[in-house]
Amino acid sequence: MAAKAGTGPKTRTRTTTERRAFERLGLYTAADFVVHLPLRYEDETHVTPVAQALPGQWGLFEGEITDSQSHYQPRRELQATLQDPTGRLNLRWLHVYSGQQARVSAGRRVRARGEVRAGYRGLEIIHPLLTEPDGALPDTLTPIYPTTQGLPQASLRRAISHALNEADLSDTLPPAIRTHYDLAEFAPSLRLLHHPTPDISLELLARHEHPAWRRIKFDEILAQQLALAQARAVRRAQRAWPLAADSPLVNRLMDSLPFSPTNAQQRAVGQIRADLAQPHPMHRLLQGDVGSGKTLVAALAVAQALAAGVQVAVMAPTEILAEQLWRKLSEWLEPLGETPVWLAGNMAAGARREALKAIATGQARLAVGTQALIQDKVVFDRLGLVISDEQHRFGVNQRLALNRKGDQSGLHPHQLSMSATPIPRTLAMAFFADMDVSVLDEMPPGRSPVQTRLFDDRRREDVLTHVARAVRDGEQAYWVCPLVEESEALQLQTAVDTWEHLCQSLPDLRIGLMHGRLPHQEKSSTMQAFRAGQLDVLVSTTVVEVGVDVPNASLMIIEHAERFGLAQLHQLRGRVGRGPRPSICVLLYQSPLSAIARERLRAMFETSDGFEIARRDLAQRGPGELLGLRQSGQALLRFADLNTDGGLLDQAREAAVWMTRDYPDQAQAHQKRWMAGAAQYLRI
Ligand code: ADP
Ligand code: MG
Repeated sequence: MAAKAGTGPKTRTRTTTERRAFERLGLYTAADFVVHLPLRYEDETHVTPVAQALPGQWGLFEGEITDSQSHYQPRRELQATLQDPTGRLNLRWLHVYSGQQARVSAGRRVRARGEVRAGYRGLEIIHPLLTEPDGALPDTLTPIYPTTQGLPQASLRRAISHALNEADLSDTLPPAIRTHYDLAEFAPSLRLLHHPTPDISLELLARHEHPAWRRIKFDEILAQQLALAQARAVRRAQRAWPLAADSPLVNRLMDSLPFSPTNAQQRAVGQIRADLAQPHPMHRLLQGDVGSGKTLVAALAVAQALAAGVQVAVMAPTEILAEQLWRKLSEWLEPLGETPVWLAGNMAAGARREALKAIATGQARLAVGTQALIQDKVVFDRLGLVISDEQHRFGVNQRLALNRKGDQSGLHPHQLSMSATPIPRTLAMAFFADMDVSVLDEMPPGRSPVQTRLFDDRRREDVLTHVARAVRDGEQAYWVCPLVEESEALQLQTAVDTWEHLCQSLPDLRIGLMHGRLPHQEKSSTMQAFRAGQLDVLVSTTVVEVGVDVPNASLMIIEHAERFGLAQLHQLRGRVGRGPRPSICVLLYQSPLSAIARERLRAMFETSDGFEIARRDLAQRGPGELLGLRQSGQALLRFADLNTDGGLLDQAREAAVWMTRDYPDQAQAHQKRWMAGAAQYLRI
């Protein structure tokens, strides 16, 4: 058989392809390579007698080839038998290239390694790797690294071994800190993880529980905490408009409310009030489960800022949400003489020009809208406070843009971010540690808990009957349509189909349809009709997911609930249970359910506590997805796992303070070693 054209001898220098592959793995400098750690190991330190070969286990065998032949069945396949004093093992190649058969001609001695499996002629290894039998065996385990297409393990191993000799592996932790937290030394830990000796427990290594792993995880978290501490220090050095805490407008707003704030709201308002009075920018995250009343807290912050004479920008990730904020803020602030201007992406050119002008001259004091508010073209006169709702849904770039947004004065605005995705403590500390956090852990009074019911799609008729009855009693319902990830158009179609089907099945009900492709005007009027009780049922795509507030709606039906993520289901369910009426959330699912979908639906059934839901979501999906950081392409923590390494996080956080204060040089060196690529994402 002829050699394949173009496969000449391999070169040993680093090729462009190889360099690109390294870059895809984030490997640029020697420091990057040395912390590219193995996923697992293979034990080539000793030869296993063939008699001890076990299916499913990896092994290195040595013996004589007793038989070698190629068949066509129907493709060409090569088969050989390796024999040692204890038994025989089959070796099989499904693709045969030239010269290969000669390497396993009968009578040769070889070493063969690979995973043993039960073949139909006895134990076999498919595509074993062959080596000459006379070479010395390594005395450490062979690392298997995370790799990428076209990058063989051998190249990675070579590059990493090289880097281990080149890189500065000096310990960035002062002995006092190492001793205090009982941490292993850096260089030996690293060397051990790359090349463990065979006596080390593979089990401990695999679970990242070996002391060497503990040291590396600690270092990783510490670097992150140092970066956050630094971001905080930078912010402390920035200047902002100090907004006087004592303001008649705030008091008038308080007095005009039809209810009194909950204790949690008062606490958050107090914290924000104090922050705003400072001459450096506030970065505060207001966390509260859906319906906990974040908008009021925001409104009080707005009032304080307006009273102090600065401008305020309030924005939300979607137009529906932004409009709702605008409505609420108008309702509360207009009677006090403050009228918000509206700014969104698809306004008529004239209206937009006017809004921009009013913002630039400072005539508009409160601007509410979408991301359009932080585009470069928007210039503020004296921007003192930026509030963003559902902040985690903004993309990374938008959040960076927001941070750069200043005004003509050169001072930095205070920032209040609000999120209804309750972020578990460990995660908040890891990702938002440069923000202060206020939590609304109490619901306004008069809410009734939402009952969650699971229905197989085959019982859809029962659900329809229930909806019809509830509507006759004056209730209103959301009917949310499945998420179709592959295609927005398809999602739209299902919403339209569902709407038509409902209109046919329940002809005497008033049924509205809402989806992202509708012109803004239509979305807005549909939403308003639903809010005013002129619609009984609102069929919708997930555009109602966050923030929509219609207290009279007490029924939520979610189609294909199995397709939604946990956080999303929780958000959707949070649209009901906002009034005095007992509310019901029906999760319609299509069987059979995958294990993970069943887990999610069970979680929804078992708990309505947003923090518990977030904890389970984190366990299922990992932090990147939960925070929408997936698109950043940077998993911020590669080795530590926030689910299980909470204790380590506490220690690293404490150590970060200690190092910043007592060992600033080492702190800087440490951060440099770990944070090359990830740092910018931590400053958002
Ligand atoms: P979220 O935190 O989800 O943004 P909202 O701010 O939309 O919640 O508040 C939910 C509903 O609760 C709104 O209708 C709001 O007016 C009402 N609300 C807020 N605070 C209180 C309170 N202290 N007492 C009674 N109702 C309140
Ligand atoms: Mg809200």
